[in-house]
Amino acid sequence: MTESHIIYMDNAATTPVRQEVVDAMIPYMRENFGNPSSLYDIAKINREAVALARSRVARALNAEDKEIYFTSCGTESDNWAIKGTAFANRDKGKHIITSAIEHHAVLYTCQWLEKQGFEVTYLPVDEFGMVNPKDVEAAIRPDTVLITIMFANNEIGTIQPIAEIGKIAREHNVLFHTDAVQAAGHVPIDVKAMNIDMLSISGHKFNGPKGTGVLYIGKRVKLDSLMHGGDQERKRRAGTENVAGIVGIGLALELSVKEMDATTKRLDALRKRLVDGLLTIPKSRLNGHPTKRLPNNVNVIFEYIEGESILLMLNRRGICASTGSACNSASLEPSHVLTACGIPHEVVHGSLRLTLGEMNTQEDVDIVIDAVKDIVQKLRNMSPLTPDELRKY
Ligand SMILES: *Cc1c(COP(=O)(O)O)cnc(C)c1O
Repeated sequence: MTESHIIYMDNAATTPVRQEVVDAMIPYMRENFGNPSSLYDIAKINREAVALARSRVARALNAEDKEIYFTSCGTESDNWAIKGTAFANRDKGKHIITSAIEHHAVLYTCQWLEKQGFEVTYLPVDEFGMVNPKDVEAAIRPDTVLITIMFANNEIGTIQPIAEIGKIAREHNVLFHTDAVQAAGHVPIDVKAMNIDMLSISGHKFNGPKGTGVLYIGKRVKLDSLMHGGDQERKRRAGTENVAGIVGIGLALELSVKEMDATTKRLDALRKRLVDGLLTIPKSRLNGHPTKRLPNNVNVIFEYIEGESILLMLNRRGICASTGSACNSASLEPSHVLTACGIPHEVVHGSLRLTLGEMNTQEDVDIVIDAVKDIVQKLRNMSPLTPDELRKY
């Protein structure tokens, strides 16, 4: 991006807005500032810009334009999908199925619904963080109104068998929502072929602007509104449109999808190099699925040390990384995702997540490998827990 010496490998937390997207957004903050609901020309220009963005998103997901609703973020989309269907279908039942490894935007929403009298089944995952579709089917009850399972995990990158789960949901006539915030723009999505009823995405995870999101809502879905007020978004999501943001998320998604094959190929190679390099460190292991994972995600555990300590020392060398999700990085709670994968209590704190992006080069990868090797060795030398055979210099 710039000449700065920072190596940014935290693209699962957020991504920089790409230049074409910034350029496309600026006119909607300047000369085209009108309210899309107004009747003069500068408002019409805005209405058309929103409509174009809507069809760009629809095409990227194989949805129809009128099934795309703009929101303020991935978190809002998740909340709307889950609370909206739960309350709209109360007469049918009060049971929801989700997984133990969801993002907190889903997990805490489900926990809140439990306090409102809903019942939630939290499905386990295997050691790779994979949900078994058979478990989904077995958990369905006559009063189940919603299945919500994430497309790809933000900590370990595991991609779920979404098409299989969608098929099961459709056969049992249960609505299916997926949090695709990590997947959109990174792996192929087809809401029709995968039988997805609702799908959440967020602009800032694919080089679009922060504070922009989409909820795809299939035509057959009945759900309550979260926001009440004006007539925007076909009266389902009130609030004056974030026109510049909508322009940004639409273009960013279109560009990411167009470049997906090339990006995947490049990131796959960088990821393989990074994993191979990091796993030469003794007592290390890769978290998540070996093959069914996001092309940019690396999550590794190093025994006998704390992930937080690695992060601080990487930061001093200008390297941005994470232990898991951005929300967990500030707390000492062990990751609910790694815990659900059965990672033993003693080692769960030693995780490091590196998520690659467009600006990372092979040289960056080599610098990071050397830095992590050096830091892990230093930390192990300092730790009283380290066995003698792992101590050096
Ligand atoms: C980032 C993220 C979210 C939240 O999206 P925001 O736009 O930051 O609210 C939800 N789910 C997953 C899987 C994410 O990675």
